[in-house]
Amino acid sequence: MSGAAQIINLDARQWPRDLGWSVLGYESDTIDFLTRYRSLGLAIVMLHGIAEHGGCTCRDARGCDQPGKHPLWKNYLDGEPRWDDMRAELDKSWRRNIALRLGDQPNGWRLIAIDVDGPDSLLEPVEREFGKLPPTLTERSGRGSHLVYRLPDGVDYPLNKAIAPGVEVKSLRGKITVPPSMHVNGHRRRWTNPIMPAVLP
Ligand SMILES: [Zn+2]
Repeated sequence: MSGAAQIINLDARQWPRDLGWSVLGYESDTIDFLTRYRSLGLAIVMLHGIAEHGGCTCRDARGCDQPGKHPLWKNYLDGEPRWDDMRAELDKSWRRNIALRLGDQPNGWRLIAIDVDGPDSLLEPVEREFGKLPPTLTERSGRGSHLVYRLPDGVDYPLNKAIAPGVEVKSLRGKITVPPSMHVNGHRRRWTNPIMPAVLP
């Protein structure tokens, strides 16, 4: 075999089924991420972004109390924005951020997120009460993380509320800011575990 390339016969059936999700781990621009989220069947919300001066791209600028985190359109819960409208917003400013709207998704899933406002150790009391959380689609920012889960069939949406100190469930009518959005601290959000969302046990 020396010097010869090794030929491997790939069996398509053995390919990872969640191949589409690993692409979320690669850094790219907002248009590219919008395309990825759309092709995965996820519900997107366009947000204001972080301006060059460090405040929000909205009218309140440095006076905004939710810089880069609030929706551009008031009716964001009513349905999916048109692709052309999202493109037009990014043409106006490439600094726009984006969020994932939780709840019912275009792909038929029902999504919730666990919002951890600090280190992973904040999840310890949650796991003691509810059991170990399976690995899932996870985003980490400088300060905390978001874990995205699918709800099993026949289970009602949980309420949007804190379930432990620094740990909040985001559910129906909730949203989480997602990559490649910029945090007010200047860091871009990243999917640190770019896998298909697990079903909540
Ligand atoms: Zn603002």
